[in-house]
Amino acid sequence: MSAIIKDIEIIKSKTTKINEVDFNDLKFGNTFSDHMLVCDFKDGKWQAPKVVPYQPITLDPSAKIFHYGQSVFEGMKAYKDVDENVFLFRPLENFKRLNISSKRLAIPELPESYFMEGLKTLLEVDKDWIPKNEGSSLYIRPFIFASGNGFHASPADEYKFIICTAPSGAYFSGKVKVLIEQTYSRSANGGVGFAKAGGNYAGQFYPTQLAVAKGYQQVIWTDDNTHEYIEEAGAMNIFVRINDTLITGPTSDRILDGITRKSIIEIAKAEGIPVEVRKITVSEVVEAAKNGSLKEMFGAGTAAVISPISGFGYNDTDYDLPELEDTFASFLKKTITDIQTNKSEDPYGWRV
Ligand code: PMP
Repeated sequence: MSAIIKDIEIIKSKTTKINEVDFNDLKFGNTFSDHMLVCDFKDGKWQAPKVVPYQPITLDPSAKIFHYGQSVFEGMKAYKDVDENVFLFRPLENFKRLNISSKRLAIPELPESYFMEGLKTLLEVDKDWIPKNEGSSLYIRPFIFASGNGFHASPADEYKFIICTAPSGAYFSGKVKVLIEQTYSRSANGGVGFAKAGGNYAGQFYPTQLAVAKGYQQVIWTDDNTHEYIEEAGAMNIFVRINDTLITGPTSDRILDGITRKSIIEIAKAEGIPVEVRKITVSEVVEAAKNGSLKEMFGAGTAAVISPISGFGYNDTDYDLPELEDTFASFLKKTITDIQTNKSEDPYGWRV
């Protein structure tokens, strides 16, 4: 879909909140920059995007987002190097995935220039909000939802595309203990698991609360049909290291095609780490934990980059993972974040 935008209108905030923010003590995603990008879909087309002050949105109580959950989102980051150059990591992948998600939720697809030029303009306006500190970045949240009204259970005729940004520190601190889920599912064949649809996350909260009450931090999702295959780690893709081989499940209707996941697969292959993209059974992971060949498990996603797992629970038994000196997780995390933050060469052409 092509659409050209000449100039994006910018309405600047009269005040700034930046002096209230302690950039040395950032949490994840709870402080928002001064501006946001807003773009409306009405009269059958996406209207010109604008940068406006970050502010609440007014919606009619009958707006379809509240009733039928038509909403999709993305998660990405902007980084600053020591010379204050600003970088994005594979942003076109986020754009493409947003449209893949939208299509599945019957939301009109967005032109590439609205996303890319809109994002770059927003980052230019709020560039002082992009943290420079090690481990920090500007988390970027593009999202689209049904703002059109009516109780009729059908797609809305109006939508809003918004990009908000949040200077953020690390997502998880430390290793997480996870529970392999045997009852609930986050997705199903023919469903919306591959889309970043808001409802997918709502459906994860209750099973995660149950796992937290049992002393775990996250749920490892298994396939909905048999619960015998490991699929995702909370809102991250999952990698398992058995001996020296890194294994991750193939993407499917049920699994999000993560940008971190596919970057890790490429880096690992280039660095000579054997990688297998194949189904992983719960029983092989349990067996590997018992015989000592299970060396590492970690989640992979934009927010945490890599989130190492310290152990897992399954069938009322806890299994601990070894404490290794040199892990694939820390090597891969460093390699990917060095590319993201311009500390190393980018042989893949991912940095923008
Ligand atoms: N799986 C799910 C369900 C997610 O929400 C995410 C985060 N977007 C991921 C995997 C990781 O995707 P990415 O590496 O593109 O952030």
